Amino acid sequence: TEALDVESIRDEFPILDREFDGTPLVYLDNAATSQTPDQVIDSISHYYRHYNANVHRGLHQLSQEASIAYEEAHDRVAEFIGASGGRKEVVFTKNTTESMNTVAYAWGLAELGPGDEVVLTEMEHHAALVTWQQIAKKTGATVKFVEVDEDGRLDMDHARELITDDTEMVSVVHVSNTLGTVNPVSELADIAHDHDSLIFVDGAQSVPHMPVDVEAIDADFFAFSGHKMCGPTGVGVLYGKEHLLDAMQPYLYGGMMIEKVTFEDSTWHELPWKFEAGTPVISEGIALAEACDYLDSIGMERVHRHGTELAAYAYDRLQEFDDIEILGPGGDERAALVSFDMDNVHAHDVSEILNANGVAVRAGDHCTQPLHDKLGVSASTRASFYIYNTREEVDALVDALDQARELFA
Ligand code: PMP
Repeated sequence: TEALDVESIRDEFPILDREFDGTPLVYLDNAATSQTPDQVIDSISHYYRHYNANVHRGLHQLSQEASIAYEEAHDRVAEFIGASGGRKEVVFTKNTTESMNTVAYAWGLAELGPGDEVVLTEMEHHAALVTWQQIAKKTGATVKFVEVDEDGRLDMDHARELITDDTEMVSVVHVSNTLGTVNPVSELADIAHDHDSLIFVDGAQSVPHMPVDVEAIDADFFAFSGHKMCGPTGVGVLYGKEHLLDAMQPYLYGGMMIEKVTFEDSTWHELPWKFEAGTPVISEGIALAEACDYLDSIGMERVHRHGTELAAYAYDRLQEFDDIEILGPGGDERAALVSFDMDNVHAHDVSEILNANGVAVRAGDHCTQPLHDKLGVSASTRASFYIYNTREEVDALVDALDQARELFA
């Protein structure tokens, strides 16, 4: 795979021209939200300028155009993640969090009870952790956590111990948004399936950054967010195997998701519309499909290589410093992000100094509070990379850290 032409990619992202009093923006908060290329911005603008209308219902021309584009967007997203069932297996939600809650409520409330177990990992995002924790409280099920070892990897022996015939659901993050660990999700899927458990994979940090094939993983459910993959905010995806989505009751009720309604009862529309109650995320869904086109035009292999090379470079540069502890596995085994803790300087102070240098990072617990507690750090600073980032920007990060060190030492 050929290297990316980063300069021409940067030209496609208008926000990267921003400066703060002459200091250029160095955007290293991509794990939180990625920036948006012209192609995607134009898709949204084109929708509102030319064919904005509600979908599925009206018979007028605009509604037909919007409906076709919206429905086809599901097929495009299905293709992007290797879901051969097409639109029937792709539900548009608000974000990864809503995708998780959809399964937790629609499947979990109906299927879980006392004696049943849900197996998570210690590196789950709150989107999974809090959701399954609360559904377990409602149903009497028990939640168990696969341990993270000293190197920031899952203890797979522990996983094999924890996943038993009592396990009904394994919910695991594909790529940790804090540690940068890439988890062996297809191995975990095999273990789960050996015990007749389902597996939900949180792909919020994988789909934007690497080629993902949900069928090769054999995930039963899979979730991700548009806003982390060059798409707009407001749209996320819930993939589910068709037979599972078919058997599930809806999570939200209302218009659009029904087939026949009487005063006494109702029946549900076909997949995926059964899970998309009310007016859906029309322009956002269409723009998400555009983001898939955009990323495929670059090539996900190349997207992946660029991100991991930058992360390895950042890892190496940060390792030069005795006062910096990097969370998670070594340089060439991590995804496109590096979280770290700096002695004597709180992550919020680090990010403030970085911000004064135009460098945007995330500081805090990154929605993994229990993991931070376990690691014994109250907060960390996270630099996360994408297709438009450069080595020079990693250097700018390191230079700004020097300043923080001098100021607070
Ligand atoms: N899971 C992971 C691994 C994430 O990184 C994030 C975003 N920080 C989420 C879930 C939640 O995504 P969203 O806020 O779009 O629902």
